[in-house]
Amino acid sequence: MTRVAVWLGDAAEDQEWVDLLSSLLPGIEVMPMDTAGAPDIDYAVVWAPPAGALARHPGLKAIVSVGAGVDHVLRDPELPKHLPILRTTGPDMVQRLREYVALHVLAHHRDLMTTDAQQGRAEWKQLVTPVASKRRVGVMGLGRIGAACARTLAGLGFDTAGWSRSPREVAGVAPFHGGSGLHDFLSRTEILVCLLPLTDQTRDILNADLFARLPRGAAVINAGRGGHLVEADLIAALDKGQLSGATLDVFRTEPMPADHPFWQHPRIRVTPHIASYIDAATGASVVASSILAFDRNGTAPDVADANRGY
Ligand code: NDP
Repeated sequence: MTRVAVWLGDAAEDQEWVDLLSSLLPGIEVMPMDTAGAPDIDYAVVWAPPAGALARHPGLKAIVSVGAGVDHVLRDPELPKHLPILRTTGPDMVQRLREYVALHVLAHHRDLMTTDAQQGRAEWKQLVTPVASKRRVGVMGLGRIGAACARTLAGLGFDTAGWSRSPREVAGVAPFHGGSGLHDFLSRTEILVCLLPLTDQTRDILNADLFARLPRGAAVINAGRGGHLVEADLIAALDKGQLSGATLDVFRTEPMPADHPFWQHPRIRVTPHIASYIDAATGASVVASSILAFDRNGTAPDVADANRGY
């Protein structure tokens, strides 16, 4: 009998997923994952499994990441490298990110941080901001999520560009790619949205050098991964006015500690990794479809490339 084990790092959440997946996968045994190794399982459904836990299940056919990113799986030094890693995306995840990106790009575009501060001082001061067609926004990462978000921004009327590793065409979006395209992409981008995967090439990419290449007063939105951002460089760039504001959804340490300076910074908006937090019912149905597809065909619609890192 096929066996599926779940590890999300929280016993109650694991059980909720076990119950949902059991009802969606009749004839398949679903259980919380025993990180010590027994019993033998075919599929591990995981978020940030402990190092070595997957290697202790030699019968595994595939790993299912409960999320679009796979960095939390690839960071395991004992990861069995030959195993396919199935990503969990689906229309709801993409839609939630489109909403998040539209909301926060518009907030920077209309300078809500300044009007919020004015309200706190009961100060009536009318700000005039450019229309969207005169605002240049840029999305780093044109994958399933990044391309959809770039299209959404273009649809709102923004002058939109995108940056990817290889050339990508997205309707209404000015394309840039690779190291050679980065400088021109940055120099035109007033509101930057990071939707990259975390890899050896993209770690720390949001740093002082990158901020200096944006026009003065640009804003940054990071919904990729906390490891993309050099935190001290962001604070320095905000404090000297190179950046006007930042919206951050992902952090080096999650949950972010209560004494972290980001919580209190007047030009940083913090959201607790909810840009596209997948609800268990939707997530389990996408995961169940991936497992059924893989069991049937030996592959699934969305498999990460471990060598590429995403
Ligand atoms: P994909 O794997 O579909 O796409 C990744 C994109 O990034 C591709 O366009 C790829 O280029 C580009 N890219 C990768 N490496 C580089 C590089 N070195 N230089 C330039 N471009 C690069 O990912 P998704 O769109 O599905 O997801 C993106 C990320 O969003 C996830 O990995 C995750 O980190 C984050 N995320 C965050 C969520 C949240 O709630 N905050 C929720 C879901 C995802 P190419 O097209 O050439 O391959």
